[in-house]
This record gives sequence, structure tokens and C-alpha cells, in this order.
Amino acid sequence: MTTVNKPADLPTELLHHIDGKDVPSVDGATFPVADPVTDTEYGTVAAGGPADIDNAVAAARRAFTEGPWPKMSDRERAKVLNRIADAIESRADRLAELETFDTGLPVTQAKGQAHRAAENFRYFADVIVAQHEDAYLVGDKQVNYAIRQPAGVAGLITPWNTPFMLETWKLAPSLASGCTVVLKPAEWSPLSASLLPGIMAEAGVPDGVFNLVHGIGESAGAALVAHPDVPRLSFTGESGTGQIIMRTAAEHLKEVSMELGGKSPCVVFADADFDKAVDAAVFGVFSLNGERCTASSRVIVQREIYDAFVEALAARASAVRVGLPSDPATEVGALIHPEHYARVLEYVEIGKSEARLVAGGSRPAHLDSGNFLSPTVFADVAPDARVFQEEIFGPVVCVTPFDTEEEAVALANATKYGLAGYVWTSDLKRGHRVARAVQSGMVWINSHNVRDLRTPFGGIKASGVGREGGAHSIDFYSDLRAVHVAVGDLTPPRFGVARP
Ligand code: NAD
Repeated sequence: MTTVNKPADLPTELLHHIDGKDVPSVDGATFPVADPVTDTEYGTVAAGGPADIDNAVAAARRAFTEGPWPKMSDRERAKVLNRIADAIESRADRLAELETFDTGLPVTQAKGQAHRAAENFRYFADVIVAQHEDAYLVGDKQVNYAIRQPAGVAGLITPWNTPFMLETWKLAPSLASGCTVVLKPAEWSPLSASLLPGIMAEAGVPDGVFNLVHGIGESAGAALVAHPDVPRLSFTGESGTGQIIMRTAAEHLKEVSMELGGKSPCVVFADADFDKAVDAAVFGVFSLNGERCTASSRVIVQREIYDAFVEALAARASAVRVGLPSDPATEVGALIHPEHYARVLEYVEIGKSEARLVAGGSRPAHLDSGNFLSPTVFADVAPDARVFQEEIFGPVVCVTPFDTEEEAVALANATKYGLAGYVWTSDLKRGHRVARAVQSGMVWINSHNVRDLRTPFGGIKASGVGREGGAHSIDFYSDLRAVHVAVGDLTPPRFGVARP
């Protein structure tokens, strides 16, 4: 039986945080939460519903209309954001420990996520100070200028993969913009968010600016989406959930940002640096347990090198170290939840009937319990196969051959998704050509999943609506207003005046 070390002082009763106070649900409801290695319940989480969302939105609304936060200068808010980053960094080991325990993410990768979370705040502290508004002098009579104002209460709904990092990816720009917020984290990974109230208090964020309501999506999440006092809704999660949320948001004409699912292609041409392309393909789909929205889950390889590439990918997948998430040597840990694990296993069975299994495909022999799966590679996957079309969100990759560039692009674009794309070739002209032809929000050429936070992040087709990152995030959480002022003798046309 696989065992797990419980972190010391593990919080076992997770509460909402509303208006500066930790509170249970109004109706006292809770739901259990378990770790993904032993599937043993370690605590209970307050199960928020419409009444808790009402309280949180009311607190955020009060903090917005009566409190200092939206009125502070950008520079003052930036100082607070930098203090939040300090508070996160001082808890980096603890955050990694909790995230690893709660989500099954390998601890070395969870540590990276904690530092990235701090970076999110430092980065948006810089962005908000660097923001400038446009002003136009029109002749000598008129000045037009634009002002940016915080939009109000922002609703933030986040998924269970890299939960803390994604929560901060939304918290940092919304707070930087001067919004007050209600965060609804994912129900399968509530633990790391329990550190946020302490972090915010230590940094001097006024009560009511940051509010946290745990709960099930269809209840707490849906109530947040439908709340009339929440003008901005930023969501990261599955495409199907995004559709439901957009329907409700449309009823309120609410502005939404949608970061959704993916099935991203990695196109490898025969002239590519073979070893680096293998490294990137392996890292791209097996890091973060394959539970990564931008995972390169479809590898599309030119025929000349196809057999060698499949062989290399299979060998490397078989050598990836699957183990306890808390072991620093582990490269792939436990999948988040038995329900998700069962779904991924179902896809593995579907894949076995649709394609050629060349690595993995079952639980590793040395781990007799827990949500563990050996990194799995399917070769000769046809574009109409379900494992080619549908997001599996686990350590499973499909490999498909192509002959011409045209065929490679057609295969890359043959799903409903359009989040990321990867191109490997030594012909840079072709790299740029394919990068333009691949339908996705982001493309990497001869590069793995690195990015500068200034670049826009998001997808097209079923992978998203809108962009986050850099000024795009600040625009989303702001209302832009154009102001026109006469500075010279500007006479309005005189209607209704008797003509001479
Ligand atoms: P999910 O859609 O099931 O849940 C995401 C969040 O939405 C959770 O907090 C959940 O409680 C909430 N929710 C569920 N139903 C809701 C409803 N009706 N109304 C309001 N809220 C609701 O997604 P998940 O399984 O937690 O996350 C995995 C998915 O997220 C994958 O598809 C992955 O690709 C995607 N993802 C995308 C990005 C990106 O940036 N594009 C990043 C990470 C994950």
C-alpha cells in the first residue's frame, strides 16, 4: 500500500475568508477533501453557496466603494503587491509542501510554481506602475484623453491544476488594477489557497479587498458568475464549463476572460534538432503530471524520422521517474483525484483500441495504490481517434506521422482546440510560416514551454476568449473612459437659434 507523509500542522478545516474573517458557510455545509496518493480524507472544506457568495460580494463591493484600495495610487498598490510577493516567497517551501500533498504534483515542480506565484505579483506591480494613458491634443482647441479605472468586484474561478499559481495569475492583475475580488478555488485542490488570507494580511491588504469562497462549481461558482455586482469574471477551466459560464454571463452582459482546455500539437520536421525535440516533447506532455493546459499532447512527426522519434519517445517515457510527489527525484506524481484518474485510464483503454501503445498504459508496478499512471505513448494515431481529438489532461501523448508541411498544418489544426503549438525545424522561414498557420493563441518555435510574462496568454477556438498577461490583464480588470475637454474656444453647433 502506497503511503504518504502528511505535512506538519496540516489545516483540516478550511473556511471561507470574507471581509477579513475566516468563516464557515452560512448553512454550515462542508465537503470532504482527500489526498491523491492514499485517497484518504484529510479534512473538510466549507461548501459555499449563493448566500456565502452574496456575503463575499457585498464585502468586496463595500471595500470597493468605501475603502481605500481603488483610490490608492498605482504606485502605492504596487508596493502592497511587492509585499504580497515577499510573503509568498517566505512561505515557498510550505506552499510547495501543501500543493504537493493536495494535488500530487512532484515537489520540485511545486516549488517552481510557488516562486512563479510570487513573480506574478512582482510582475504586475511593475506593469501597473508602467501603465500610461493616452492623451491627444486636437489642434489648439481640444484635448482628448483616456482614463483607466478599476472595474469593481472581480470574480475569479480557478481549476485544480497548479492551483496556487493560477489563483495568483488572476489575483495579481485584478488587485493591481484596483479591483476588489472574490476568489472561488477548485474543490479538488483547496489547500494552498488557505495560505492566502495570511499572506494578504501580512502585506497590508485592507479587509474586504480579498475574499475567498470555497465550494462546488455548480453552486458557489455559478452564484459568483450570476451575481449582478460582479462586472468582471475571469475563469480558467474546461471548455464545457466555459460555455456554461459564458451563457450566464451573457444574461448580465458581463465581461469574461476564458482560459480553457487544449490539445496542443508539437510538429517535428525531419530537419529538427532531434534530441532537443525529443526532450521538449517529453517535458511538454509529462511535466506537471501532464495536467497542463498547454501540454504538447499530440506529437506530429515527419515520416523520415517518425520511427526513430517514436522509439526515442517511448524509451524516454518508460524512463520517466513516477513516484511519490514528495520525493525530490519524482518527475511524474499522482493524478489529482480518483475520478480524474478513472477518466484518464478510460482514455488509455480507448487509445489501446484506436492506436498502437508503445509505452506505459497502466499503473506502474512499484506503486500499488494511488492515482499513478506510467507515462503513456500511443503511436500511429489517426486524426479521427478520440485520443487525438479530446483533452485527456494526464501523462498521455499521441504520435502521428506526416509527409508534407501542408499535411502537418492540417493535422495540427484538426481539433476544436487552439491553445498552444510547438514547431521544431532548422529552417526558420518554415518555422515562422508554420507558426502563422497553426491555429492557436501561442506558438513556440524550437523552444519549450517558456514565456515572458509580458506576452499575451490565451487561446482561440474552444481554448479561450480574451488574453491574460501584461497590459491585456490590466485592460480586462479596468474600465476605460474617454474624456474630451475644450481647452480653446470650441463653440458647439447652435441648433434651434433663429437664423438671420
Ligand atoms: P473545471 O471547468 O471542471 O473547473 C474549473 C473551476 O470552475 C472550478 O473552480 C470549478 O469549481 C468551477 N466550476 C465548475 N462548474 C462551474 C459552473 N457551472 N459555474 C461556475 N464555476 C464552475 O476545470 P478543471 O477540471 O478544474 O480544470 C482542468 C481544465 O482547465 C482543463 O480543461 C485545462 O486545460 C483547463 N486549464 C486551462 C488553462 C488555460 O490557461 N487555458 C490553465 C489551466 C487549466
